[in-house]
Amino acid sequence: MCQNPNEHPLNPSHFEGSSEEKQTAQEVEGGFAAYTKGMKFFDPHVHMTSRTTDDYQALADAGVVAIIEPAFWLGQPRTGLASFKDYFASLVGWERFRSSQFGIKHYCTIGLNSREANNEALAEEVMEILPLFLQKEGVVGVGEIGFDDQTAAEDKYYRAQLELAKEMNLPVQVHTPHRDKKKGTERSMAIALEHGLAPHMVVIDHNNEETVKSVLDQGFYAAFTIYPFTKMGNERMVEIVKQYGSERIMVNSAADWGISDPLAIPKTAALMKIKGISEADIQKVTYQNALDSFAQSGQINEADFIHGLEIDQSLKFNGNTVLRGGQAPRVDKNSIFIR
Ligand SMILES: [Zn+2]
Repeated sequence: MCQNPNEHPLNPSHFEGSSEEKQTAQEVEGGFAAYTKGMKFFDPHVHMTSRTTDDYQALADAGVVAIIEPAFWLGQPRTGLASFKDYFASLVGWERFRSSQFGIKHYCTIGLNSREANNEALAEEVMEILPLFLQKEGVVGVGEIGFDDQTAAEDKYYRAQLELAKEMNLPVQVHTPHRDKKKGTERSMAIALEHGLAPHMVVIDHNNEETVKSVLDQGFYAAFTIYPFTKMGNERMVEIVKQYGSERIMVNSAADWGISDPLAIPKTAALMKIKGISEADIQKVTYQNALDSFAQSGQINEADFIHGLEIDQSLKFNGNTVLRGGQAPRVDKNSIFIR
């Protein structure tokens, strides 16, 4: 559930600030790869269903080896249970296959997003199918759930899904609201504690300078979305890591159908390197902490992707492939995709 305001017609750089900063920004936008050589990345929040194959290729080329796709709001409300069912099925089915065709290990979290929790009749039906999908292979948590407008219905289904997560011993991925963020974040954490969830099983997402201290102090994981306009820019992210260190902090792109950047993590890593943050700290916030938190689901085996996935684009999923007529399948990681 990551929206953008419509008032910005263009997609500018993530960077704000002085001309010196802007120069660094340009360097990172165009040449981040020079700084991130040898690094691997794990994006724990990216909505690939909304992205193209070019994005998958760019992610793979930039060193992103694994991703988590949270179930979310599609930009318009679904009108029936069948659309939820098909969407969840695609997250553990076609989308995972599509990702594998570019050498990226794909996991997902499954949940009822806050916005659609407000359609209570439908929400009740969705709650009934969640346990089935949460048991599926590669589902690493309940998410993304939480508050949007902070309504009574959102509260009700957030609590119900926390109970589900507790029962199934799964991590929770909590979306925090854009409006009244501080209040919404505190409320999300208080309710999680009230329901007896261990803070280390809860990833509080979309943090900023106002929320990070409390999230870390209370023992939760703190995720940051590097997103144009509404959330964190990467300059600000560098300052957060300088101030709070790398424990329990993670970076994500939350790239979706809006103005967003799937390469936000490698670009932020490059900027961190330029700004003197150690490679060990960079790898914690761009890889290891995402892995550690969601591996608590028991569904992630690092050995599956640490050395990259074997790519065989001649494979099919239910008879369908990522290729179109006349395109040659890529079967070797080092070969060129489009010939
Ligand atoms: Zn999202």
